[in-house]
Amino acid sequence: MSKISVDYLVVGSGVTGATIARQLTDEGHEVMVLERRQHVAGNAHDTVHSSGIRYHTYGPHYFRTSSSRIWEFVNRFADFYKFEGVLQTDVNGQLERWPVHKDYIRKHVGENWEPEFKGQPGNFEEAALSIMPRLIYERFIEGYTRKQWGVLPTQLEPWLAKRFDVSTDDDLRLKKHRYQGIPLGGYEAWAWRMLDGIDCQLGVDYLKERDRFHARKKVIFTGPVDEYFGYDLGPLAYRGQRRSLIFIPNVDYVYQVPQINCPDIAAGPHVRILEWKHTLPEEERNVQGSLLTVETPFTPDDPGDYEYPFPSTENNELYKRYEARAKALDNVLICGRLGEYRYFDMDQAIARAFVHVDRLLGRRQD
Ligand SMILES: Cc1cc2nc3c(=O)[nH]c(=O)nc-3n(C[C@H](O)[C@H](O)[C@H](O)COP(=O)(O)OP(=O)(O)OC[C@H]3O[C@@H](n4cnc5c(N)ncnc54)[C@H](O)[C@@H]3O)c2cc1C
Repeated sequence: MSKISVDYLVVGSGVTGATIARQLTDEGHEVMVLERRQHVAGNAHDTVHSSGIRYHTYGPHYFRTSSSRIWEFVNRFADFYKFEGVLQTDVNGQLERWPVHKDYIRKHVGENWEPEFKGQPGNFEEAALSIMPRLIYERFIEGYTRKQWGVLPTQLEPWLAKRFDVSTDDDLRLKKHRYQGIPLGGYEAWAWRMLDGIDCQLGVDYLKERDRFHARKKVIFTGPVDEYFGYDLGPLAYRGQRRSLIFIPNVDYVYQVPQINCPDIAAGPHVRILEWKHTLPEEERNVQGSLLTVETPFTPDDPGDYEYPFPSTENNELYKRYEARAKALDNVLICGRLGEYRYFDMDQAIARAFVHVDRLLGRRQD
């Protein structure tokens, strides 16, 4: 049987694969996309519940960027309605602002507090205690971290604490990027428009069927790097989330905001509750009842469930060994969230995809 031959074979139709496929096609190359799931858009995929409420299949995806180039690129494929994430944290049954506000610290800790940890943090807990009072760490962070990663915070790398900040103004938004939104009509339709005119085959696992395909220029593989190499140096660690969907009839809303963080270990193993109606454009909210997703972290075996690279030194070292092998491949580029074993937000994944395309086309050398 003759092989299907194209210039570039893109494995994976997530944000990274779709961006690279689009750009290479726009430059006149023949591109084919293979996707092992039955849908495009990777982990940004969304769908509509029987109630009419759209929800994000793999957890909440809020698009944010301060780059005009990235914003213009994503708006080529859909109009984005304004959505700015606002979160709360359930602290012993009381819903508090997140990020924590300086007034909360003033009220519960006092005006003049000294960081408990001074010096160079060697782990996540030390890093957190170098930037926030212990009481805040214990109420907002510690339990969440233990549930999220399934280990003690002292076993995690210090850089993770960089994600936290204390809000000092009345602006409730989680992130203050210049552009924030969600595509009208959803991420799946947005990704299909990005792939417009490109042959995209669903339900094809490249690693199981690679003999059927030939890339004249390069294979761009956006799946897990350790899976690509048959785990022969050992598996990289990941965390995933189990999600239960709960429809509550006869209510308008359950919560005041789209996302509730749940650090209290005694309250159960779940870390977040999402209320999807808050994420819809105003004109789509007129639905009776409300749809929630409850997210509970776990350690996945199935690569389809890999979500977060595990932030430990041991894993990063293992990844570096896979990375060296990936870089030595002539005809394959391994990239994206799973390929580069790095948590990318969608805008970062797009920025990174732009860099890869520039290198593929010889527009940059570094
Ligand atoms: C829980 C969660 C919440 C998030 N929330 C946000 C958010 O609010 N805002 C934000 O900007 N970002 C968010 N992100 C990050 C966002 O999901 C990533 O930036 C994005 O998924 C990166 O896209 P990707 O294409 O690199 O990877 P993926 O989306 O994982 O796509 C990879 C694709 O490759 C396919 N594939 C893998 N192996 C094969 C194979 N062998 N053959 C064929 N196909 C294969 C997979 O099925 C998948 O569809 C979140 C991530 C998670 C996990």
